[in-house]
Amino acid sequence: MIVFFLLMDLQTGAIVRSNWPDASKPVPTGSLVKPFLALAYAQRHGFEYPVLDCRRCWSGRVHGRLGIEQALAHSCNSYFTQLANGLAPSGIGARFGVPEPVENWHAAPTAVLKAYIELAARSGEPGVAPILEGLRRSAREGTGKGIALDGALVKTGTASCRHAKRAPGDGYAVALTRRHAILVQVHSRPGAVAAAEAGRLLAGLP
Ligand SMILES: [Zn+2]
Ligand SMILES: [Zn+2]
Repeated sequence: MIVFFLLMDLQTGAIVRSNWPDASKPVPTGSLVKPFLALAYAQRHGFEYPVLDCRRCWSGRVHGRLGIEQALAHSCNSYFTQLANGLAPSGIGARFGVPEPVENWHAAPTAVLKAYIELAARSGEPGVAPILEGLRRSAREGTGKGIALDGALVKTGTASCRHAKRAPGDGYAVALTRRHAILVQVHSRPGAVAAAEAGRLLAGLP
């Protein structure tokens, strides 16, 4: 399995381990955009999140009625497609040092990792707490549960492959613990596998 990762120490803000070839070069990161898309929506809608119906989703799943926390935990495409529909530019990207959130989002791995750290640091700001709860649920029972670390925050994604030997898609996961933040890309595997890899890499740390 081809795994690229970027690991940051949250106390020093330094990248402590990485094998990512060019972490400042934007890549498609799929559903990693969803927390920022959510915040862009919230900013335009009085920091309220809707409850929506998912009748058909990725890999034939049907998520049914769900709010923001469940939508993030299970990475519901239908929920976020409805949320993104007609959404005007919000300035959220600029606030988090990443491109404006859109469905086909491309962003630099280093910037994505920092944006998630920033999001966790802003837990007290309007609209942020439900997003962080969604990422906590993802780690506990959602697409990120492969991380197998208590209290972690996780978001997974799947996006088009950019490797020389093309695969249908590459999996991504961002994970935050109290001490570390990690971004993982796995070639030709889903985001759930990237979350498990993130767990494996984090578990070996002091
Ligand atoms: Zn869904
Ligand atoms: Zn690939």
